[in-house]
Amino acid sequence: MLFDDPDFQETIASVLVPVAVAGAYTYKVPPGQSVVPGTIVKVPLGPREVIGAVWDIEPDAAINPKKLKTISHVYDKTPPLDDDLRRFVDWVANWTLGAPGMVLRMVLRSEEALEPEAPVPGVRRIEGAEPDRLTPARGRVLATMEDGFAWTKSGLAHAAGVSASVIDGLLQQDVLETVLMPAAPPPPKPQLDYAQKPLTPAQQAAADGLTACFGKGGAVALIDGVTGSGKTEVYFEAIAEALRRGKQALVLLPEIALTEQFLRRFEQRFGVYPAEWHSQITVKNRSRVWRGVASGDVRVVIGARSSLFLPFKELGLIIVDEEHDAAFKQDDRVPYSARDMAVVRGHLSGFPVVLASATPSVESIVNAEVGRYKLFELPERASGAALPDLMAIDMRQDGPERGRWLAPGLVHGIAGTFAEGGQSLLFLNRRGYAPLTLCRTCGHRFQCAHCSAWLVEHRFQKKLVCHHCGHQEPVPKACPSCQSVDSLVACGPGVERIAEEVTELFPQARVLVLSSDIAGGPDRLKREMKIVEEGGADIVIGTQLVAKGHNFPLMKLVGVVDADLGLAHGDPRAAEKTFQLLAQVTGRAGRVTGGGKGFLQTYNADHPVIKALLSSDKKAFYQAEIEARRAAGLPPFGRLAAVIVSGPDRGYAEGFSRALARAAPPDQAVTLLGPAEAALAMVRGRYRFRLLAMAPRQYDLQAYLRHWLSIGPKPTKGLRLQVDIDPQHFL
Ligand code: ADP
Ligand code: ZN
Ligand code: ZN
Repeated sequence: MLFDDPDFQETIASVLVPVAVAGAYTYKVPPGQSVVPGTIVKVPLGPREVIGAVWDIEPDAAINPKKLKTISHVYDKTPPLDDDLRRFVDWVANWTLGAPGMVLRMVLRSEEALEPEAPVPGVRRIEGAEPDRLTPARGRVLATMEDGFAWTKSGLAHAAGVSASVIDGLLQQDVLETVLMPAAPPPPKPQLDYAQKPLTPAQQAAADGLTACFGKGGAVALIDGVTGSGKTEVYFEAIAEALRRGKQALVLLPEIALTEQFLRRFEQRFGVYPAEWHSQITVKNRSRVWRGVASGDVRVVIGARSSLFLPFKELGLIIVDEEHDAAFKQDDRVPYSARDMAVVRGHLSGFPVVLASATPSVESIVNAEVGRYKLFELPERASGAALPDLMAIDMRQDGPERGRWLAPGLVHGIAGTFAEGGQSLLFLNRRGYAPLTLCRTCGHRFQCAHCSAWLVEHRFQKKLVCHHCGHQEPVPKACPSCQSVDSLVACGPGVERIAEEVTELFPQARVLVLSSDIAGGPDRLKREMKIVEEGGADIVIGTQLVAKGHNFPLMKLVGVVDADLGLAHGDPRAAEKTFQLLAQVTGRAGRVTGGGKGFLQTYNADHPVIKALLSSDKKAFYQAEIEARRAAGLPPFGRLAAVIVSGPDRGYAEGFSRALARAAPPDQAVTLLGPAEAALAMVRGRYRFRLLAMAPRQYDLQAYLRHWLSIGPKPTKGLRLQVDIDPQHFL
């Protein structure tokens, strides 16, 4: 820069701001301040101020600096976002067709995190000073302070068992003085050799294989191990290796209800808890974790998908546990797959990424087959326990009587397990009491006013609830259509209804429902998971929450109430997802001691998914599924992108989607399907139409979409247009 030329004294920076625009805005850097790419700043944007990050320094921008606004604040206590993270943000934006600023928004979460936490006032003993009169209360205070450390006033009063006035008295007499203490000391570091379990030979081989992935660029490893094979113990050794190399590690889990058990296991291995990152932690803790990750004080994070965007100082490993889980896909704002983007982040920064599952995604299996991923298989349970014996109950022949949902064969199995003191788990992926409520007199069905979905009765709460928008209404006494009183009937079962049946059948058993919507929220759920783990329940009824990786050591029997749910679906991954879910849930049985049993209630005993589950022939199922995908050109052999148009006016949304389809540039490689009304045609008062673009694997579908959307009609009148690359949910 030419500092002697007055025209060039101003530094101009482009700043990415958290709004949905295509690029960065330019600002002047305030005199006397210095910024570099990645520096976090506050800038004026229209009438407000927003937090953004310097993306580039532009010494010779062809803009008259007089017309530019000035950066209003530089957060110079926070390290600038490094090159790797900025490249990652740009990469994700480019891949998802999202605005880079909206991706950056996932990095910059809270302003509070950008300034160091203010120190808190405390008190300390002045050396040698003695009070005029040593009362017993004062004596207790001084004894408590013998170690010479500073205390908060309230903490000291509590520890010494005195009132705050005793401490004030000692302050007045200059026996104690006020000092400032750091708000939170850095968390203790994991200890690499705290308590390593001896690994089985298969586990050791996998752990050694993972360790060998370090220092080889962005290698990806897939641990394909049956439920209970000790995948966690194995990837703990990869974490140890990352820490040994002075790197940080991140573990992604699909469900926060799982973190409790994970935290305890991590502590058993490394002597400390890792940091947690998900929607349930407090703003204060969130800021601490964000800062600790950026400063390097935090070495290991366990988190939900959004932790992928944390500003790690020296990230050197990502583990994606239960990698097949659809919860890793975010659907709103920037639709992205945290599993796939974890692989990208590892690739960009040259560190290993480990995917783990008992039922990997077809995508990951294919990647392992062609050698893109290193495969480590753990075909046996760590305890040596056999996998559960599975059998189908053909509901056409051996089903329950009318109005009942559990077949006699299953009830018999539960009775036997209960008599032996074992736990049973009944799995039904339907919350509430009944999925549909109707009037016996006139046939009126209760539907959500804002969504094309039935209202689900929640009998414990005495409410009808929409599972798509959260709308609730009390269960009415009379039918709103024909005014008949007490004429409402519940159709089909939800978990609450199964619980009712179980309580009737087994009045002495302790019955517990585990569902994500139980009153009391995540804390209660965590407690109840622990109760089950420790044997405080005999029969557990759960939704898909219980399928996800949780270890219930006393669980002996798993009954799948409706194995067909999820098979009939417009989703190309329906078979795969059903297989994964049912293999996972039946895998909860007999994990430690063996002797587990699984029952699948089905009307389709001949369906390939059911047959594959019963024969435990996982490989055959995957091979058949892979061939079917290859033949149909579906992922991972082809690429898919959904374009979803939604708006408050049905006709307008439909007309727009048709016009958009007509504007699609003809291209031999691209097949365009739709527009079709979405399976859930209306959500939250918005009508939805879907277009689906298919192309071969090597084709640059993003470039095609970008071109198409740039020449196509632009959404107006409250219409929203969302692109979803590699969609996972087809509702
Ligand atoms: P997965 O994640 O593959 O389902 P886990 O890692 O949860 O399996 O292990 C299942 C159970 O086996 C856990 O209770 C775990 O502590 C135990 N376990 C795993 N490996 C070993 C080992 N090498 N020695 C002793 N116990 C083990
Ligand atoms: Zn009626
Ligand atoms: Zn609704």
